[in-house]
Amino acid sequence: MNAYINRVLEETKKRNPDEPEFLQTVEEVLNSLETVIEQHPEYEKAGLLERLVEPERVIEFRVVWTDDAGKVNVNRGYRVQFNSAIGPYKGGLRFAPHVNLSVMKFLGFEQTFKNSLTSLPMGGGKGGSDFDPNGKSDAEIMRFCQAFMTELYRHIGPNTDVPAGDIGVGGREIGYLFGQYKRIRGAYENGVLTGKGLSYGGSLIRPEATGFGAIYYVCEVLKHENDDIKGKTIVMSGFGNVAWGIATKAAQLGAKVVTLSGPDGYCYDPDGICTQEKLDYMLEMRASGRNRAQDYADKFGVKFVPGKKAWEVKGDICMPAAYQNEIRMEEAEQIFNNGTKYYIEVANMPTTNDALYYLMDKGLIVAPSKAVNAGGVATSGLEMSQNSERLAWKAEDVDNQLHNIMVNIHAASAKAAEECGLGYNLVAGANLAGFKKVADAMMAQGLV
Ligand code: GLU
Repeated sequence: MNAYINRVLEETKKRNPDEPEFLQTVEEVLNSLETVIEQHPEYEKAGLLERLVEPERVIEFRVVWTDDAGKVNVNRGYRVQFNSAIGPYKGGLRFAPHVNLSVMKFLGFEQTFKNSLTSLPMGGGKGGSDFDPNGKSDAEIMRFCQAFMTELYRHIGPNTDVPAGDIGVGGREIGYLFGQYKRIRGAYENGVLTGKGLSYGGSLIRPEATGFGAIYYVCEVLKHENDDIKGKTIVMSGFGNVAWGIATKAAQLGAKVVTLSGPDGYCYDPDGICTQEKLDYMLEMRASGRNRAQDYADKFGVKFVPGKKAWEVKGDICMPAAYQNEIRMEEAEQIFNNGTKYYIEVANMPTTNDALYYLMDKGLIVAPSKAVNAGGVATSGLEMSQNSERLAWKAEDVDNQLHNIMVNIHAASAKAAEECGLGYNLVAGANLAGFKKVADAMMAQGLV
């Protein structure tokens, strides 16, 4: 291992002892950069890696809101403005009980590379709160969003930092957040948030974009392997917006997603989540706020396996689309033993590093989330363009651009790894390709 990378890793560990998720992603990314760091001794002189792993700014704030029973509640809000070398900070807001500083920093760091990969001018940021939206009334969600924005508004703007959705933050929450931002700012700046409704500046295809983009990326991988998506069986986790987009596009292209999962267990639908009724029902399940996968099995009379993960089901392609670190060594071994050929990460960092390297060593084709799920934020970038042009593009135009972006991300990642002598290594390739643009911009902009 390169001495400079080693030193930065050690320093990062010392400086952030209580942030395991953040250290995990830093380790994974820096491990890929050896060749390029050796080719550029000027990076070390400029302290480039030390600067790259330190967020430009971390904002933590109190969020006070009253529930329907009149009880006062306090949550913690975050916005991590990680890197603005190539554009305004951009990245989602996550509302979930597992949110803490480590999770926010890992997501902000990943976002910096992901956004760079899209080739659009967006820096990396992430935010959210440890607020749990499950089981909350609509009025409670609105009051929470308003309270959250009452602090956040002073840190964001169309040219500063542009948040969007993530786990627990969908179209409804973005609406409430935007309403409050507009009220406080006294100006109609709809470029401040993405993932908006169509009536106030949202983009067609944004809700579908992450899942569609993931399948477009899968198609590129299959093409590289002289294989075809038609007839493929996909084992997937999660049942949120991203999972819905995956199932929808897979069905259109003649593949079938046979599982979905939630905190309660997983459903196995051997016919695939392919009909419009089933796909629509996924959206209903998410909107219900029940956070329960079993509802799908009850509705369609398929098998539900309580308390288990879907990885015991055999399939050609595995797509974890729930949350971080759901694939550890045990699940990775199961996936390998099932004869899976393609392991396509979708959720941000769904795999522990040991499990990730194990699957690569075993010869599976492994694709990293920061490339696979980049279609979401890329389409947010397209939404920003439409807002600044004061125009709304046709669905077909947005979809075509999304498709092109995903084709390019795959090609750029494959090429970057190849150039470093790493072969068809999409994991290292995404890190290398994402790093290059950010590194060039940071070097050009001096010591900031
Ligand atoms: N939260 C999504 C992500 O992880 C989307 C971010 C955005 O659209 O800004 O990339």
